[in-house]
Amino acid sequence: MFTGHFAAAIAAKSVAPRAPLWVYVGASQFVDIVWSGFIMAGIEKVEFDETLKGSPLDLYFMPYTHSLPAALAWSLLATLLARRWWPSGTAAMVGLVTFSHWLTDLLVHRPDLPLGFTGPKLGLGLWNYPQAEMALEIGLLGIATGMWVAQRVRSRQTAWPALLFLAFLVMLQMFASTGAGATTAAALGQSALLAFGLVMLVAALVDRRQPKRMGSL
Ligand SMILES: [Zn+2]
Repeated sequence: MFTGHFAAAIAAKSVAPRAPLWVYVGASQFVDIVWSGFIMAGIEKVEFDETLKGSPLDLYFMPYTHSLPAALAWSLLATLLARRWWPSGTAAMVGLVTFSHWLTDLLVHRPDLPLGFTGPKLGLGLWNYPQAEMALEIGLLGIATGMWVAQRVRSRQTAWPALLFLAFLVMLQMFASTGAGATTAAALGQSALLAFGLVMLVAALVDRRQPKRMGSL
């Protein structure tokens, strides 16, 4: 799961629009942002196996980011951080989006997500069916974008930022697959952080305040 995680961010923006989209985007990948740092530092481990379908990543050790208790703890931390800037409903939404990362990973990962701190490991393995996986990610993005367009139209804003963001993510999904090209943990962590940074930047650009007089599409 790569761009599919952002579906939760877009859906959250349509339900609780007070927090900027880039914050929800960061929350949806908070667990992977920490993971990127941890694999670069050697705290968590990954192997590369090109014979694996869909994604070459053998994620055999990531208890501090991708176990269920860890995902809950990072989500709680995200909620507490968000509470400094936004009301509790919005902060709770930031926490929910953070936790959605683990749930969406559960759909696509091979069994590598520890239910306890070390095991048993869960994962429905949709990565093994790349076309179905791609359809799921783009389908989730489509549904979430529909929600955001509806919310924007209701509040008399233009729909185009939502559509532009969807187009950007679909392109990213088509041309960049998870872990493609990287052969070391350091390179993988670096390219993941760059990708997350880029998506947060584009989210910040499309979600700038629009003057109301532009009307709605
Ligand atoms: Zn993940």
